[in-house]
Amino acid sequence: MTGERAFVHETRAARVVFGAGRATGNVVAEIERMRATRAMLIASGSQSALAEGVRAVAPVAMIWSDVAQHVPVEVAERARRAADEAGVDVLVAIGGGSATGLAKAVALTTGIPIIVVPTTYAGSEATDVWGLTENGRKVTGTDPRVLPSSIVYDPQLTASLPRGLAIASGLNALAHCVDSLWAPRADPLNAALATEGARALHAGMRRIARDSSDGPGGEEMLLGSYLAATAFASAGSGLHHKICHVLGGTYGLPHAETHAIVLPYVAAFTLPSAPDAERRLRQAFAADDALAGLQALRREVGAPVALRDHGFRRDDIPEAADIILPVVPASHPRRVTREDVEALLHAAWAGTPVEDPSRGEGRG
Ligand code: NAD
Repeated sequence: MTGERAFVHETRAARVVFGAGRATGNVVAEIERMRATRAMLIASGSQSALAEGVRAVAPVAMIWSDVAQHVPVEVAERARRAADEAGVDVLVAIGGGSATGLAKAVALTTGIPIIVVPTTYAGSEATDVWGLTENGRKVTGTDPRVLPSSIVYDPQLTASLPRGLAIASGLNALAHCVDSLWAPRADPLNAALATEGARALHAGMRRIARDSSDGPGGEEMLLGSYLAATAFASAGSGLHHKICHVLGGTYGLPHAETHAIVLPYVAAFTLPSAPDAERRLRQAFAADDALAGLQALRREVGAPVALRDHGFRRDDIPEAADIILPVVPASHPRRVTREDVEALLHAAWAGTPVEDPSRGEGRG
C-alpha cells in the first residue's frame, strides 16, 4: 500500500513550567535546576518589579533594562559585553518578544542558556529564531543556541497588558498558527499544533477582550501562543511572516499591530488556494467559513485595522514590495506577483475592507 504523505517533521524541544502567580518561585527553581550562579535578568521597565522580586531571592549578577523592538545590533553588542564582563551563566528574559530577542542575541554568540518568562503572546520563547536589525534591515536566522532551555508561563503577568496590546499580541500568535498552515515546512504534525493553537487563541481572546483578568482566558492565551510558536518554529516563515518582517525591520512598524493588521489580507489572498487550512481554521473558529470566523473575531475584540495608523507610509509600498518579493516562499499555495504584494500592502495601509463572505470590515 502506498500513501500520499511523505515528510520530515521536527519540533523544537522545550521545558515548559506553567502556573498562575508562580513566576518568581518557578524562575528561582529553574535557575537552581541549571546550577547557575550568575544570572543576567533582561527586563524592560514594564517588568522591573518582577525582576527586582527575582533579584531578592536568586543569584542575580545584573539586571539589563535597555530593550528595544527588533533588537538593534548595537544594543545586542553592549549586552554581550556586559554579560561577558559580569561572568553571566544564565540569561533570564522577562517580557515580550523584545526582551526574549535580546537574550537570544546574547546567546547566539556566547551559548549562555536562556530562561524566558513571557509577558506577551509573541511566542519567541518557543522558537530557535533570532532577529537583529542593522542599517534598517532586519536579519533573521535559526540556531539551536538561541532556543530557550526553560519557559516559565504565568497568566497573571499577561493580565497587565494594555487591552490594545493584548489583542494585537494575541492576533500575532494567531498569525503564527495561520501562516504555519502554508509555510515551507508545513506538515500534518505542525498543522495539528497550529489548529489547536488557533482554537485556544480564538476562545481565550474573546474572554480577555471582555475582562483582561479572566483566568481561564489568560491560560488559553498562553497555551495557544506556545502551540502557535511551536507550529511556526517547525513549519517556518510563510508569506505573512515574510511581509511583516520587512515592515518591522525596514520601516520600524510595531510588531504585534503589524501582524494583527496584515493577517486578514494574507488569509483572504491565500485561503481560496489552501482548502486544508480553510477547513482547519473553520473548525478552530467554529465558523462556517475560516475568513468570516477570523473577521468576526477581529471585530469582536477590536483589532487594529490600518498600517497607516502605525507609521507606514503609502510612498513606501513599492520599495517594500521590492524587498518582499524575493523572499516569498516558492511553496506558497498561490502564485504571488508584484501586483499582488502591492495591492495587499495598499489594502493593509488603508484598512480597506477585507473580502469577507459574511460582511465587510475596516473603515472602508
Ligand atoms: P515587545 O516585547 O516589544 O513589548 C511591547 C511593549 O509592551 C513594550 O513596551 C513592553 O515593555 C510592554 N509589555 C510587555 N509585556 C507587558 C505586560 N505584561 N504588561 C504591560 N506592558 C508590557 O513586543 P512583542 O510583540 O512581545 O515582541 C515583539 C518583538 O519580538 C519583535 O522584535 C519581534 O521580531 C520579536 N519576535 C520574535 C519571534 C521569534 O521567534 N524570534 C517571535 C515573535 C516575536
